[in-house]
Amino acid sequence: MSDLRDLYQQVILDHYRAPRNFGALEPVSACAEGYNPLCGDQIKIYLRTDGDRVDGVSFEGVGCAISTASASLMTEAVRGLERPQAEALIASFLALMTGDGEAGVDLGKLEVLSGVKDYPVRIKCATLAWHALRAALEGGDSEAVTTE
Ligand code: ZN
Repeated sequence: MSDLRDLYQQVILDHYRAPRNFGALEPVSACAEGYNPLCGDQIKIYLRTDGDRVDGVSFEGVGCAISTASASLMTEAVRGLERPQAEALIASFLALMTGDGEAGVDLGKLEVLSGVKDYPVRIKCATLAWHALRAALEGGDSEAVTTE
Protein backbone atom coordinates (compact mmCIF):
# COMPACT_ATOMS: atom_id res chain seq x y z
CA MET A 1 0.00 0.00 0.00
CA SER A 2 2.85 2.39 0.74
CA ASP A 3 4.25 1.64 -2.73
CA LEU A 4 0.94 2.77 -4.17
CA ARG A 5 1.08 5.93 -2.10
CA ASP A 6 4.60 6.64 -3.35
CA LEU A 7 3.40 6.22 -6.90
CA TYR A 8 0.54 8.62 -6.26
CA GLN A 9 2.98 11.15 -4.80
CA GLN A 10 5.16 10.87 -7.89
CA VAL A 11 2.25 11.51 -10.24
CA ILE A 12 1.18 14.53 -8.19
CA LEU A 13 4.71 15.96 -8.13
CA ASP A 14 5.12 15.33 -11.85
CA HIS A 15 1.94 17.29 -12.63
CA TYR A 16 3.00 20.05 -10.22
CA ARG A 17 6.43 20.45 -11.79
CA ALA A 18 5.21 20.13 -15.38
CA PRO A 19 1.52 21.06 -15.42
CA ARG A 20 -0.37 19.98 -18.51
CA ASN A 21 -2.48 22.47 -20.49
CA PHE A 22 -1.06 25.42 -18.58
CA GLY A 23 -1.75 28.84 -20.08
CA ALA A 24 -4.59 30.74 -21.70
CA LEU A 25 -6.75 29.03 -24.28
CA GLU A 26 -7.50 30.77 -27.56
CA PRO A 27 -10.26 30.90 -28.70
CA VAL A 28 -12.17 30.34 -25.47
CA SER A 29 -15.86 29.75 -24.72
CA ALA A 30 -15.93 30.51 -21.01
CA CYS A 31 -13.60 31.30 -18.13
CA ALA A 32 -13.98 30.97 -14.41
CA GLU A 33 -11.71 31.80 -11.55
CA GLY A 34 -11.26 30.02 -8.27
CA TYR A 35 -9.67 31.15 -5.06
CA ASN A 36 -8.90 29.14 -1.97
CA PRO A 37 -8.28 31.64 0.83
CA LEU A 38 -7.11 28.95 3.26
CA CYS A 39 -4.06 28.13 1.17
CA GLY A 40 -3.80 31.10 -1.17
CA ASP A 41 -4.39 29.01 -4.30
CA GLN A 42 -5.61 31.06 -7.25
CA ILE A 43 -6.66 29.52 -10.50
CA LYS A 44 -8.26 30.53 -13.77
CA ILE A 45 -9.91 27.90 -15.92
CA TYR A 46 -10.35 28.32 -19.65
CA LEU A 47 -13.00 26.21 -21.33
CA ARG A 48 -13.64 25.74 -25.02
CA THR A 49 -16.72 23.86 -26.09
CA ASP A 50 -17.79 22.63 -29.50
CA GLY A 51 -21.54 22.18 -29.24
CA ASP A 52 -21.94 19.91 -26.23
CA ARG A 53 -18.42 18.59 -26.37
CA VAL A 54 -15.54 19.83 -24.21
CA ASP A 55 -13.01 20.70 -26.88
CA GLY A 56 -10.31 21.96 -24.56
CA VAL A 57 -9.57 23.03 -21.01
CA SER A 58 -6.54 24.89 -19.74
CA PHE A 59 -5.61 26.74 -16.59
CA GLU A 60 -3.40 29.47 -15.21
CA GLY A 61 -2.61 30.48 -11.70
CA VAL A 62 -0.46 30.00 -8.69
CA GLY A 63 -1.07 27.36 -6.12
CA CYS A 64 0.35 24.57 -4.05
CA ALA A 65 1.32 21.17 -5.41
CA ILE A 66 -2.11 19.66 -4.73
CA SER A 67 -4.14 22.42 -6.40
CA THR A 68 -1.83 22.57 -9.43
CA ALA A 69 -1.67 18.80 -9.88
CA SER A 70 -5.43 18.49 -9.51
CA ALA A 71 -6.02 21.17 -12.16
CA SER A 72 -3.49 19.58 -14.49
CA LEU A 73 -5.01 16.11 -14.13
CA MET A 74 -8.47 17.58 -14.60
CA THR A 75 -7.61 19.24 -17.91
CA GLU A 76 -6.51 15.86 -19.25
CA ALA A 77 -9.51 14.02 -17.87
CA VAL A 78 -12.29 16.23 -19.20
CA ARG A 79 -11.05 16.99 -22.70
CA GLY A 80 -13.20 15.32 -25.31
CA LEU A 81 -16.05 14.54 -22.94
CA GLU A 82 -19.64 15.46 -23.67
CA ARG A 83 -21.03 18.03 -21.26
CA PRO A 84 -23.10 15.51 -19.18
CA GLN A 85 -20.05 13.24 -18.88
CA ALA A 86 -17.92 16.18 -17.75
CA GLU A 87 -20.54 17.15 -15.17
CA ALA A 88 -20.70 13.54 -13.93
CA LEU A 89 -16.92 13.43 -13.63
CA ILE A 90 -16.89 16.66 -11.62
CA ALA A 91 -19.62 15.33 -9.31
CA SER A 92 -17.79 12.03 -8.85
CA PHE A 93 -14.47 13.70 -8.10
CA LEU A 94 -16.06 16.03 -5.55
CA ALA A 95 -17.84 13.03 -3.99
CA LEU A 96 -14.50 11.20 -3.70
CA MET A 97 -12.84 14.20 -2.06
CA THR A 98 -15.57 15.08 0.38
CA GLY A 99 -16.64 11.51 1.11
CA ASP A 100 -20.13 12.71 0.36
CA GLY A 101 -21.88 10.19 -1.83
CA GLU A 102 -20.59 7.62 -4.28
CA ALA A 103 -18.30 8.30 -7.18
CA GLY A 104 -20.67 7.61 -10.07
CA VAL A 105 -18.03 7.21 -12.75
CA ASP A 106 -14.60 5.61 -12.94
CA LEU A 107 -12.08 8.27 -11.99
CA GLY A 108 -9.09 6.46 -13.48
CA LYS A 109 -5.87 8.42 -13.01
CA LEU A 110 -7.64 10.93 -10.77
CA GLU A 111 -7.51 8.30 -8.04
CA VAL A 112 -3.97 9.52 -7.33
CA LEU A 113 -5.59 12.42 -5.48
CA SER A 114 -7.67 10.15 -3.26
CA GLY A 115 -5.06 10.32 -0.47
CA VAL A 116 -5.74 14.03 -0.09
CA LYS A 117 -9.04 13.35 1.63
CA ASP A 118 -7.06 12.20 4.69
CA TYR A 119 -5.87 15.79 5.07
CA PRO A 120 -9.00 17.91 5.46
CA VAL A 121 -7.23 21.26 5.04
CA ARG A 122 -5.95 20.18 1.62
CA ILE A 123 -9.29 19.02 0.24
CA LYS A 124 -10.15 22.56 -0.85
CA CYS A 125 -6.85 22.69 -2.71
CA ALA A 126 -7.81 19.55 -4.65
CA THR A 127 -11.37 20.63 -5.41
CA LEU A 128 -10.64 24.26 -6.39
CA ALA A 129 -10.12 23.68 -10.12
CA TRP A 130 -13.18 21.44 -10.25
CA HIS A 131 -15.47 24.05 -8.74
CA ALA A 132 -14.08 26.58 -11.23
CA LEU A 133 -14.63 24.19 -14.15
CA ARG A 134 -18.20 23.63 -13.04
CA ALA A 135 -18.69 27.42 -12.96
CA ALA A 136 -17.21 27.70 -16.47
CA LEU A 137 -19.54 24.95 -17.75
CA GLU A 138 -22.44 26.87 -16.28
CA GLY A 139 -21.54 29.93 -18.31
CA GLY A 140 -18.38 31.27 -16.79
CA ASP A 141 -17.19 34.71 -15.80
CA SER A 142 -17.86 33.92 -12.19
CA GLU A 143 -15.55 33.26 -9.29
CA ALA A 144 -15.64 30.02 -7.37
CA VAL A 145 -14.42 30.31 -3.82
CA THR A 146 -13.99 27.10 -1.87
CA THR A 147 -15.58 28.13 1.37
CA GLU A 148 -16.89 24.79 2.48
ZN1 ZN B 1 -3.40 24.63 -1.76
